[in-house]
Amino acid sequence: MNLVFLGPPGSGKGTQAKRIAKKLDLLHLSTGDLLREAVKNGTELGKKAKTYMEAGELVPDDLIVGIIEEKVASGELADGYILDGFPRTVPQAEALRDMLKKNDSGLDKAILIDVTDEEVIDRLSSRAKIEGRADDADVSVVRNRLDVYKKQTQPIIDFYEKESILTKVDGEGDIDDITYRLQEAITKK
Ligand code: AMP
Repeated sequence: MNLVFLGPPGSGKGTQAKRIAKKLDLLHLSTGDLLREAVKNGTELGKKAKTYMEAGELVPDDLIVGIIEEKVASGELADGYILDGFPRTVPQAEALRDMLKKNDSGLDKAILIDVTDEEVIDRLSSRAKIEGRADDADVSVVRNRLDVYKKQTQPIIDFYEKESILTKVDGEGDIDDITYRLQEAITKK
């Protein structure tokens, strides 16, 4: 099963992707985690990504597409996966479609975790305290990430709707209920 998880920052995408990956024995690939690790280790990638991340902007498409291309080429994704935080723009979604096609592969479903703006802002400010993420603690950076999501990432919802693989799941309420709803939506034919 090859899946993409979509949703605004703070939608619970990462938490739920981890849970579902474990339940369905899929690889969980979070580009945000990967980039934070690169920044922490001071790698070339980290150095290039740092200023964008601190401002709540997206890192350039070619940088992130290159990472995913490496993962596809390495065969790591061969047994099924959940992409969390990628794609974030229409060019990324197109690049993903093309690189998968070249490998005779494709996505099974794109899952949109639906939450309201108010819920997102609430969750991000509590996550800032728990996880100590700098980009959650600064209100102007949080607002910018939401703005970036609306302008650059939301258009891929239409992209996947047109490809007939989009499934929306209500992302509000009890965390276990959300996992259950996601699992149902993913395993349903
Ligand atoms: P996340 O943990 O998914 O919220 O990502 C944290 C930050 O990493 C984002 O605000 C972006 O700066 C960067 N990032 C993660 N994934 C991508 C992507 N697919 N394209 C561009 N930037 C990304």
